[in-house]
Amino acid sequence: MCEQENVQTLQRGMNFRLNPNYSVILMSRRSNAPYQDRIFEDGITIEYEGHDEPRTQGSNINPKEVDQPRYSKHKTITQNGRFAEAVEKHQIDKTTPEPVKVYEKILAGVWYLKGIFDLVNYEIKNDGKRNVFIFTLKLSEHQETQGNGDIDLKHTRLIPSEVKKEVWKRDEGKCVLCSSTKNLHFDHDLPFSKGGTSLTTKNIRLLCAKCNLAKSDKIE
Ligand SMILES: [Zn+2]
Repeated sequence: MCEQENVQTLQRGMNFRLNPNYSVILMSRRSNAPYQDRIFEDGITIEYEGHDEPRTQGSNINPKEVDQPRYSKHKTITQNGRFAEAVEKHQIDKTTPEPVKVYEKILAGVWYLKGIFDLVNYEIKNDGKRNVFIFTLKLSEHQETQGNGDIDLKHTRLIPSEVKKEVWKRDEGKCVLCSSTKNLHFDHDLPFSKGGTSLTTKNIRLLCAKCNLAKSDKIE
């Protein structure tokens, strides 16, 4: 049921149609990350920077000083091009937007599924030196069920990365109730509707989807 990508083995950040039904992007917002990805304060909008020209051996060209390519030197379409084409198709043909699973790196080797986003727009912007692709993604209303119950994204999306990182370490990457390491997400001990806040690690814990489902049955 659960189709989790093995994110660790992915070689690149942009993976158009990694699966027949969706694409995958990996984002990292560490201060020294090579790309300027950002999440807006609304918690549901992401700007994702396209990818640079690959570095070629024996060449003096700095990929950070040349336009991000839509086509490679061999005239094949790049990941930037594939994602841009999907946006054009959506905007011109009014097809449903490309679904993109977005993973965020919270610690070395730990990738967290932020959710399924719709790829809604792209722009080519000049960053002062060269042109870069900026893709806009919005949290999709259609979040996939993981087989054991839905991940409650409206409760998890606003938790700052720093808090997630601490909680992950404290809970040792396991569900605090059953120690499962599958379908984990960050759970608010006290739901927002009952006054919970996402700002500290105190009321956030790691729960697996199964335990979360059991929990929400009790509260609601
Ligand atoms: Zn559990």
